[in-house]
Amino acid sequence: MTQPLFRFAPSPNGLLHLGHAYSALLNANLAKRFGGRLILRIEDIDITRCGPEYDAAIIRDLAWLGLRFDEPIRRQSQHFDDYRLLLRRLREAGLVYPCFATRKEIAQAVAAREAETGSPAPRDPDGAPLYPRRCAGLDPAEAQARIEAGEPFALRIDMAKALAEAARIAPEGLAYARFDRDGVITRVPADPARWGDAVIMRKEIPTSYHLAVVHDDAAQGVTHVVRGRDLEAATDLHVLLQCLLGLPTPLYHHHDLIRDEAGEKLAKSRISTPIAQLREEGADPAALRAMLGFEA
Ligand code: GLU
Repeated sequence: MTQPLFRFAPSPNGLLHLGHAYSALLNANLAKRFGGRLILRIEDIDITRCGPEYDAAIIRDLAWLGLRFDEPIRRQSQHFDDYRLLLRRLREAGLVYPCFATRKEIAQAVAAREAETGSPAPRDPDGAPLYPRRCAGLDPAEAQARIEAGEPFALRIDMAKALAEAARIAPEGLAYARFDRDGVITRVPADPARWGDAVIMRKEIPTSYHLAVVHDDAAQGVTHVVRGRDLEAATDLHVLLQCLLGLPTPLYHHHDLIRDEAGEKLAKSRISTPIAQLREEGADPAALRAMLGFEA
């Protein structure tokens, strides 16, 4: 059996706080328990919000917490060409389509539909209204002309087509395996349809979180994904992309957010306190680890 591989994958768009510390420490704890390795991946695709100062701070804060990662550190911003290749495959398969709509236009279309039907628009698991498929029916030649004229566009998954293709590839249905801290594995059915025609490539960058994370977990050979419950619903979309692109599906563990698990021991206001600030205030990393439920 191959050695388990875990990863901690923060986005450098701010300082790490105790919620991140908890997730990183849990990754390290489970990697050790299952005899695995742990790597660090900096998810810096959002070039407008991610800065090198946060990148450096992440490395410093994690080291201060006592965490060690196997080299090398991967930075997603260095792999845009890999994501472009996957996008090309999805486009050639007709599973994504260009979408030129602005946020404002989408909001207006949603509001118009709500007014027409008298009921609230269906929402995705994050609470955002599902995309009303304005651009899904665009004539391909017209779309191509607009792209060539330089109009910004996103690529959205055509969920109906993608589900049909997934049903052909995996007639047994989409699912993934969840593992718990004792290594017990449970099958979880995936329901990506609840995301509607989600954005797979954003307008300003040649990927999205979903595409990059699925690509990198496969490219790096990640076997065990440990991340917060806030990303659990997104896993359904990840499983769909893995199926369409022929990528392996790792095992997943979505942990409760720290406000639930360690909330009693932490004053609420401290949960979003940057680790850097705690360090400057003289906090002891061993005590912090113990407070979060890990051996000092
Ligand atoms: N980069 C994501 C975040 O910081 C986490 C991605 C993941 O663990 O899949 O929220």
